[in-house]
Amino acid sequence: PSAMREVLVEVPKVHWDDIGGLDEVKLELKEAVEWPIKNKKIYEKLGIDPPKGILLYGPPGTGKTLLAKAVATEIGANFIAIKGPEIFSKWFGESEKMIREMFRKAKQVAPAVIFFDEIDAIAPRRGSSIGTNVYDSIVNQLLAEMDGITTRGDVIVIAATNRPDIIDPALLRPGRFDRIIYIPPPDYKARLEILKIKTRNMPLAPDVNLEEIARITEGYSGADLELLVKEAAINRIRLSYELKRKQGLNEEEALKELGKEDIKITMD
Ligand code: ATP
Repeated sequence: PSAMREVLVEVPKVHWDDIGGLDEVKLELKEAVEWPIKNKKIYEKLGIDPPKGILLYGPPGTGKTLLAKAVATEIGANFIAIKGPEIFSKWFGESEKMIREMFRKAKQVAPAVIFFDEIDAIAPRRGSSIGTNVYDSIVNQLLAEMDGITTRGDVIVIAATNRPDIIDPALLRPGRFDRIIYIPPPDYKARLEILKIKTRNMPLAPDVNLEEIARITEGYSGADLELLVKEAAINRIRLSYELKRKQGLNEEEALKELGKEDIKITMD
């Protein structure tokens, strides 16, 4: 496949208030990216450029992708995303070319945010036991591309990883991924916010107590909470459906009746 044609450009629609918790992270990202771009003159006068590269690290499912999309949304940028492992599997033998094309496309559609999810898969320490020559040339390509972008904030590279410890340190030098931000798992307040966001458009039963759910879901990531809420909705529909079948309705009738019902989601 042609790499250039395969680079997908998205126009994201994730706003800061679609992300629960992470207040400090949001502020840091706004300060680092949004403010300098929205107030170019002031920052130019002060000689401050927005960063070219930001590394988000932390446990899986905690909103790193969402944050990257929110940055793009807020600065009105296009979004180009790729998962580290894909650069190998899908682009075997053409990985460097793919990276080159991503940056070329980004410049073409600038302002743009390039998002590398699971960057550890393409950029482990060179010369380490994990790193091999294959990785080396990919990392070199990525470094060259990052050095090649200007710091006017037209192209910003955001990367995410659960394993910052295995990333090639060359990537973390000034002018590359020099903003390194930890994305923590959600605490009680963040879990409650995430639950509120995820149930925003759901008809909840009046006795659903999101505070209680937030309290007992210690250790859940945002992704886990999203799944919990979805499962509650699916279970609720299944329950109603089974009840109707028991009342003697066939599948079609049961579904039809379900459509008329004022379903409220419970979360027991
Ligand atoms: P991974 O490390 O596995 O790539 P991630 O940190 O990039 O995960 P996301 O892809 O941003 O996580 O989030 C996973 C899912 O969980 C998404 O559907 C997202 O909506 C939801 N989610 C995670 N964290 C939050 C949050 N803080 N607020 C709202 N939704 C969240």
